[in-house]
Amino acid sequence: EGGKPSAEAGAPSKDSVLAGKENRMKFRDMPYERVDYDRAKEEILRLTQKVKDAENPEELWAVHQEYYRVYKGVADAMTIAHIRHDADVTDEFYNGEQDYYDEIGPKLSNLLTGYQRAIFESPCRPFLEEKIGKVAFVSIENAMKSVDESIIGLMQAENALTTEYNKLIASAQIPFDGQVLNLSLMRPYLTASDRSVRRAAWKAYSDYFLTVAEKLDEIYDRLVKNRTAQAKALGYENYIQLGYYRMNRNSYGRKDVENFRRQVKEVFVPFAEEVHEKRRKRLGLSKLSYIDNEVYFPDGNPAPVGTPEEILKTGQHMYGELSEETKEFFDFMMENELFDVFGRKTKKQGGYMTYLYNYGSPFIFANFNGTSGDVDVITHECGHAFQGYLSGKDPILEHSDITMETAEIHSMSMEFFTDPWMKDFFGDRAQDFLTLQLEDAIKFVPYGTMVDEFQHIVYENPEMTPEERRQTWSRLEKEYMPHLDYEGDPFFSKGGFWQKQQHIYNTPFYYIDYVLAQTCAFQYKIRMDEDYRAAWDSYLKLCRLSASDFYPVMLREVGLKVPFEDGYFVEIVQKLRKKLLK
Ligand code: ZN
Repeated sequence: EGGKPSAEAGAPSKDSVLAGKENRMKFRDMPYERVDYDRAKEEILRLTQKVKDAENPEELWAVHQEYYRVYKGVADAMTIAHIRHDADVTDEFYNGEQDYYDEIGPKLSNLLTGYQRAIFESPCRPFLEEKIGKVAFVSIENAMKSVDESIIGLMQAENALTTEYNKLIASAQIPFDGQVLNLSLMRPYLTASDRSVRRAAWKAYSDYFLTVAEKLDEIYDRLVKNRTAQAKALGYENYIQLGYYRMNRNSYGRKDVENFRRQVKEVFVPFAEEVHEKRRKRLGLSKLSYIDNEVYFPDGNPAPVGTPEEILKTGQHMYGELSEETKEFFDFMMENELFDVFGRKTKKQGGYMTYLYNYGSPFIFANFNGTSGDVDVITHECGHAFQGYLSGKDPILEHSDITMETAEIHSMSMEFFTDPWMKDFFGDRAQDFLTLQLEDAIKFVPYGTMVDEFQHIVYENPEMTPEERRQTWSRLEKEYMPHLDYEGDPFFSKGGFWQKQQHIYNTPFYYIDYVLAQTCAFQYKIRMDEDYRAAWDSYLKLCRLSASDFYPVMLREVGLKVPFEDGYFVEIVQKLRKKLLK
């Protein structure tokens, strides 16, 4: 998870390893050169004009190939800078590069949209539609509806605000257990088996957030007002429609998402509460407190055995056994040092996968901290990376423009497809991990849906005060997670939890994509327990489809149900209940 949506998903290119191995290179050897804005501008404008002047499909196609080359060069330079910045947020050189891209990013995307507009309006469009697909044209339309020269200043200010938020969160210094820890390094304590340790850890965590709560409120308030101003400048009633365009929702809308949320509330929340109740009994508690929310066993959550290095090695062994395709993929990642996953104090929080077009290389960034989350990186982020690697042969760049509700199926399903190997990571606690994994996924559905509803309310009512936002969050918590008890904690009981959810600041409306994908991963989980190879073949097919067709069409093509349909959850809940609550 994490990252900017455009950079997160797998993104194939025809220069990738499968087509030509000459470009492979270790990440640290990849040269970096700052994107020269003036030169990029000149090239993009030149290509835009050539699209307008193209006299036949062949000419247009040749121009479009040139565009691919320019686009890949710019994207790769920005991605390399982004990764190196995240690897050490105190590095002054890459801090400067990050600021530079924050500034030129909106201008560049405006220029690229200008190019796409020319493609969109080209008399040769039917030819191109045949060649790059109808999805690409709806995406272009969404992109055109998302930016305009008149809002570039606002977009730059928006970037600066999210950067400010990320820096603040990354620089958290929490005194605990005789050390000074950042948020990620606090996690093992927050889920410690000794309840008094996790109580103290949550107290330290809450104390930290109280010191920055006002600043976080202020940043968010400015973000909401900024985004609303952008929407109004483009002629929309509020940010919601613009947010949907920016998420490139090309095949479903607000009504569909509302119908999905309704079904979560009606069918899934009661089921999730049963699962929490089962967990409460297992923990031997009379009542679940917020400090127990991420604890699954009285003797603590299963943690991976072995060092971070060994976890990577185990991953390599596992993917070696899973399939031919996964073996080739993981060996490539290791050989080219495309993982930066070990925790360091100055690294950016979170984890993500990104892709370098000209090297045909996925890249995985994470912060290992000794919890089961480390294994999630090997499964989840590798699911994204595997898809990017696998579709690397696709010569159509637009097919790499995967919307996130689809991209997260690749990753979240891989978490389940790797279940048979969990004994290699967790030893005799493998079964406990599988219980944790499934319960955690179930628990996520109400939470993620709530994050989505919260954002709809916030952007529909941009004048809400920070206090009103917190009240809204608290009210939603009672609807989606009625068992949750904050025991009067001065930060969390006042509706503050969302301030630690980076997506709410960085990527509005992203979160429901995880939930939609989680439910598709449940479908694969159910299918793989009935016939593993058949489920895997369907998954491979979905990965290879990439973004070549619309989301509901691709789901049906690989035999998955579409989450917006009435009655969607009936069978899923019935089968999951049988697994967990039998
Ligand atoms: Zn993901």
